[in-house]
Amino acid sequence: MRLRNITGSREIIAQNRFVINDAKSHKGNISREVFNNEAPLRIEIGMGKGRFITELASGNRDINYIGIEKYSSVLLRALQKMEENELPNLFFLRMDAEYITDYFGTGEIDRIYLNFSDPWPKDRHAKRRLMSRNFLDKYTGILKKDGLIEFKTDNRPLFDFAVEEVKEAGWELVACTYDLHNDEEMVRGNIMTEYEEKFHSIGNPICKYIIRNVK
Ligand code: SAM
Repeated sequence: MRLRNITGSREIIAQNRFVINDAKSHKGNISREVFNNEAPLRIEIGMGKGRFITELASGNRDINYIGIEKYSSVLLRALQKMEENELPNLFFLRMDAEYITDYFGTGEIDRIYLNFSDPWPKDRHAKRRLMSRNFLDKYTGILKKDGLIEFKTDNRPLFDFAVEEVKEAGWELVACTYDLHNDEEMVRGNIMTEYEEKFHSIGNPICKYIIRNVK
């Protein structure tokens, strides 16, 4: 998702009280030092305008959430939503997931959400896909043992790639559907993302897996 570059968005974000700007200094202690509690920490990587994580945090006040987004102009939209409806258990981080292990300590994360991640269709860019083995290895370091990743997309070739990577990277496939909205069990409690709403409304089946960090 590339929104028009918004002048000054970096500066606005740097001063926003819902953004963790000194995240590296809290590495390993984010729940205690940022949220002032010991609740489990869950993150969404590539959250876009933040609809999914905002609704998730709103319905689960006993869990801490961080929405991660690479682009300031996109993150700004999520901050505008938060200004209208403040949540004590949600913060944001502007960061490229490539560097995620610089920000979170070993086993610090309880769950990771990946929604409609960029496909990077060229084979030579496969390592940039957020569910590639390259990234799964990074997540292994920050996710607690038996922690989960939930991934949704309407892009079938990307999903097939992601399922293959699960085996290669030695994770456990817990649940998998190629048509989420017609899967009675997996759709229960589903929160739609902006992209999901768009693609579901034009009839695209949504794929979802849940995988476990067994290492
Ligand atoms: N998750 C949202 C949804 O389902 O509506 C947005 C999906 S959009 C296709 C992908 C988002 O991931 C974009 O906002 C993009 O800027 C962000 N993104 C892509 N690569 C990223 C990375 N390496 N680190 C952090 N965010 C990233």
